[in-house]
Amino acid sequence: MREILHVQGGQCGNQIGSKFWEVICDEHGIDPTGKYVSEGGNDTQLERINVYYNEASGGRYVPRAVLMDLEPGTMESIRSGPFGKIFRPDNFVFGQSGAGNNWAKGHYTEGAELIDSVLDVVRKEAENCDCLQGFQVCHSLGGGTGSGMGTLLISKIREEYPDRMMLTFSVFPSPKVSDTVVEPYNATLSVHQLVENADECMVLDNEALYDICFRTLKLSTPSFGDLNHLISATMSGVTCCLRFPGQLNSDLRKLAVNLIPFPRLHFFMVGFAPLTSRGSQQYVSLTVPELTQQMWDAKNMMCAADPRHGRYLTASAMFRGKMSTKEVDEQIINVQNKNSSYFVEWIPNNVKSSVCDIPPKNLKMSSTFIGNSTSIQEMFRRVSEQFTAMFRRKAFLHWYTGEGMDEMEFTEAESNMNDLVAEYQQYQDAIAEEEDYEEEEGDEQPYDEH
Ligand code: GDP
Repeated sequence: MREILHVQGGQCGNQIGSKFWEVICDEHGIDPTGKYVSEGGNDTQLERINVYYNEASGGRYVPRAVLMDLEPGTMESIRSGPFGKIFRPDNFVFGQSGAGNNWAKGHYTEGAELIDSVLDVVRKEAENCDCLQGFQVCHSLGGGTGSGMGTLLISKIREEYPDRMMLTFSVFPSPKVSDTVVEPYNATLSVHQLVENADECMVLDNEALYDICFRTLKLSTPSFGDLNHLISATMSGVTCCLRFPGQLNSDLRKLAVNLIPFPRLHFFMVGFAPLTSRGSQQYVSLTVPELTQQMWDAKNMMCAADPRHGRYLTASAMFRGKMSTKEVDEQIINVQNKNSSYFVEWIPNNVKSSVCDIPPKNLKMSSTFIGNSTSIQEMFRRVSEQFTAMFRRKAFLHWYTGEGMDEMEFTEAESNMNDLVAEYQQYQDAIAEEEDYEEEEGDEQPYDEH
């Protein structure tokens, strides 16, 4: 058994996290009381159920999930929501103070006070595991709790479980959906942490999610519910390989090994096809070539960056439903051949594909894309520009220094993110010189200075 321990924090983290559980409960045939209800008896639903669920007495399945927040509201509505009873009541950990969209409160003051209670619950769950493979954390980077306290938890977990994997589902802020002006500060301080303490980050960019809702799904005023519908479909797709039997990316470490050529470059662009809106009844049915075409399309990426402005270091394409594996292989080879300049040639066979025969709900087939694209720097540049505009004038800094933070940490976070952008650029440009190098020095990686 290779268990994953899930943690969700803050308003956004709790909202997307609880949607994730609703979706996967449905896919595994688990009802809101935790009972397995087999429809047509599908063995594969339970085969790897222990990755995400504990088996409790009476044959109930309980999510291996910890829910944390600095205010009670969001968690109360989860508790009274459709799957509220499925979570272990002891695993709700919350305070009353709130983080006021202030990363410093989440990371250093209010959050630091609550963190030990969270770690107690995490430890208890970890001790119950047969062989924990790692953690997944759901949070937003723009607020105070998911962002500040979320990254505090990540660093504490890393300290205590240095050899376990850490995956995050991180929601990046966008002015198009934003609550507050300081979000670029909170996001940059978080990225600084994620670069060092997370192994793999699935980037969910509110800017792209908004654009998909508005442009593709034609929703005139997208709500968080609409954005979260896209997120839960993506999260289900990304974790499909971890939850169902199969070969490709079947655990967190294999996923990392396939996708991360350099340790800092672990921020993934994810895509999904077909895109559907919440509650839409129309039945979308696509062929394998259509799914392939869409999943590589910039319009289907949950990150506002255009892959055609960069190059893929690596990518994984995961299909779901009943289809021919041969056709999938052909389509993927076809994409690579037609777009070879968009894949770095110095990592041969850098695109992997797989098929899981269980489709998501209401679809016959779907596909999920995970790409390590150098173009993701566009999103980091966007946040960085917003950060710098304010930081240059030290605007709003007093909210952070008032919680004991030093300006230095802002400067360091800013340069760490700028370095990250520069590293992506460096590997994006790594083409011609590489050939000269090979002639001189064999096949060592010429650009890995780290
Ligand atoms: P926290 O409770 O202090 O962690 O703060 P929030 O999670 O509310 O963080 C604010 C950021 O998260 C902003 O960028 C919001 O746009 C975003 N956000 C809040 N709730 C949601 C949600 O349900 N879905 C999405 N996609 N973004 C959210």
